[in-house]
Amino acid sequence: IMFADLGLADSLLRAITEAGYTSPTPIQAQAIPQVLQGGDLLAAAQTGTGKTAGFTLPILHLLSTRKPANVKAGRPRCLILTPTRELTAQVEESVKTYGKYLPLTSMVMFGGVNINPQISALRKPLDILVATPGRLLDHVGQRTLDLSGVEILVLDEADRMLDMGFIRDIRKILQYLPKQRQTLLFSATFSDEIRTLAKGVLHNAGEVSV
Ligand code: AMP
Repeated sequence: IMFADLGLADSLLRAITEAGYTSPTPIQAQAIPQVLQGGDLLAAAQTGTGKTAGFTLPILHLLSTRKPANVKAGRPRCLILTPTRELTAQVEESVKTYGKYLPLTSMVMFGGVNINPQISALRKPLDILVATPGRLLDHVGQRTLDLSGVEILVLDEADRMLDMGFIRDIRKILQYLPKQRQTLLFSATFSDEIRTLAKGVLHNAGEVSV
């Protein structure tokens, strides 16, 4: 299977070629067509499998081909939750690399740093927000972030987020998101806790596993 067979926009294929990728990894070959169809997805994948491109590529495609309903500053169309600052940076780097030929904007948001630069950054239109749960809730509380326009939610490394005690934050964040949305859950392992979370956030989800 080739990247060109997956249904991705030419501008994404160009960025993929420039990244030096020749063919999709197994998780990409399975996940990309399913995400492009708009359904929810439960994915079992470790770091190193190419999972990040597995969700960022189809998300970039979907966002670039759809008209945003209501573009406003501080109102992202896609929210990617990750457990750590390092992972937010890595995921956003992928978004920027693959989305270099698309007119989509992204930002990262994590705790342990001054909140004011993040507040300034949120005064611009925003397509993709990559965030850790705690700081995200601080922004929601300060009304500097509006989650009512989220079309796609990703829970990346969900098992690590639960291990780090983020379940209550995640549940709170879910209350601010539209019910009508696409949700993707990536986890390396599948505990009972992950299955319970998945049952609550996913609807008729496809499953992929590598
Ligand atoms: P991840 O599992 O998402 O952390 O990705 C692991 C590494 O694989 C990253 O450095 C990616 O740049 C790289 N990568 C992702 N997809 C591909 C691909 N199709 N071909 C070659 N390298 C890839």
